[in-house]
Amino acid sequence: MFGAGNADADLLFVGEAPGAEEDRRGLPFVGRAGQLLDQLLAEIGLSRGDVFIANVLKSRPPNNRDPMPAEIDACRPYLHKQIELIEPRVIATLGNFATKLLSGSQIGITRVRGVPQEHELGGRRITLFPLLHPAAALRTPAMKDLLREDFAKLPALLTMP
Ligand code: URA
Repeated sequence: MFGAGNADADLLFVGEAPGAEEDRRGLPFVGRAGQLLDQLLAEIGLSRGDVFIANVLKSRPPNNRDPMPAEIDACRPYLHKQIELIEPRVIATLGNFATKLLSGSQIGITRVRGVPQEHELGGRRITLFPLLHPAAALRTPAMKDLLREDFAKLPALLTMP
């Protein structure tokens, strides 16, 4: 499952890996975490048609376990090609795996969330914006508030010169 959305989008979301339902339907974030993502997008005046949504892993890890380093390595070229082709201005990484992979740092998401980083990705300067994973936000109400707070910063990042 490679992802879905607007291949010309300025904003690319990168999640962790498809779950069973995402794998079956070939679409990212179709469950409850996806509904939260849709809601947060709507609150900043965006919809799925305005963005592209991809994942670090392109298929589902058995039993929804965490991605393994070899799996991340195997899928990495696909994600980098997606970044090259979509040419987003902002990449919002959802959760630890996408954040660590694209920032090249091992610092955890709770420490780096909500603060934009500048990186060179796909041969261009890109703003990386780490966000909590929506599934984590569903488990912990305080995290949902933080995720919403961080989402509110996205429109300004997208209009930065
Ligand atoms: N969680 C993810 O990280 N990605 C999906 O596509 C669905 C759930």
